[in-house]
Amino acid sequence: MSVPPLLRAKAELAAARPDLPAPVVLVPTMGALHAGHRALLRAARAAAAGGKSDAAAGGPGKSDTAAGSSGSVLVTIFVNPLQFRPGEDLDRYPRTLEADLAMCAEEGVTAVFAPPAAEMYPGGAPEVTVDPGPIGRIFEGEFRPGFFDGVLTVVLKLFHLTRPDVAVFGQKDAQQLALVRRLVSDTDLDLVIESVPTVRDPDGLATSSRNRYLSPADRALALTLPRALRAGQARAAAGDGQSGPGGGPGGSGAAAAVRAAALEVLRAEPALGVDYVAVVDPHTFGPAEPGPALIVAAVTAGGTRLIDNAPVVLPPDERTGPDGRNTEKDFRGAADH
Ligand code: AMP
Repeated sequence: MSVPPLLRAKAELAAARPDLPAPVVLVPTMGALHAGHRALLRAARAAAAGGKSDAAAGGPGKSDTAAGSSGSVLVTIFVNPLQFRPGEDLDRYPRTLEADLAMCAEEGVTAVFAPPAAEMYPGGAPEVTVDPGPIGRIFEGEFRPGFFDGVLTVVLKLFHLTRPDVAVFGQKDAQQLALVRRLVSDTDLDLVIESVPTVRDPDGLATSSRNRYLSPADRALALTLPRALRAGQARAAAGDGQSGPGGGPGGSGAAAAVRAAALEVLRAEPALGVDYVAVVDPHTFGPAEPGPALIVAAVTAGGTRLIDNAPVVLPPDERTGPDGRNTEKDFRGAADH
């Protein structure tokens, strides 16, 4: 177990890049690494070894993915100022570089690129940025204006700087994952995106660098979020196509019922601030159709904002058209935030 080289400057990365064995698998992070990041590092290591990636499965990857080759895992650690608004937690965001490097060493990471902000944005905030489009302006994009512009801009820069064959992202940030996939397809980037299921602590809370802001009382309150998602999943599994009490306009009957079940749990905790809860298509974040969908939610517990999501499979319901598509447009239930 050796500590991977720590690259601070773009020039150092450029010098190291030609010597990285292919395939190069990138894991972009903001540091303060936890069990969720560890799962990404393991998936990246497997992809680098030709174990699991789409490229290894015979996709149009440009890399050598022969089974047994070890490839490279490149981790970036950068708290991107572009995705924080004034008043958000940029300054107090946890920075734990030494512990991060230790985890990277444990997981066989090849190199870590952790540039200072001035290295990434030498002229200050860039003038030309990535417009995330309509998916970037709803849900997280609505509550954090400019957030996805900042995320996609830094992700694109990191893709250019590291030129990965594969990049690994967490399903925990489902809207970000959908947008990164969209960025890759809409701008013809030549890499494969892999995703990793959300890692949770034993009490059900999704691991997050921001969980350390939570007091024990806040954490108890925050557990309402995964509980609400589980209630939504249970409603979906029960196959109840009717909207439950308080469901409001939730798209298809099944989606509305799932949303209502989750919302009911959230509303039982008045101390919890609810930004949104919705049942959406995992790729477009538009209205969910019968089949695979996501319950997405954002809440605030004691001043800490948390997002989470859970997969569901929506049964067909009586309000879908003859082609099986949901015919309702108003899926968010704006009045029900
Ligand atoms: P962050 O450092 O928070 O920007 O996250 C870096 C990457 O780790 C993103 O792709 C996240 O989706 C992913 N990630 C964060 N938390 C989790 C988790 N609990 N489970 C799986 N992936 C996660």
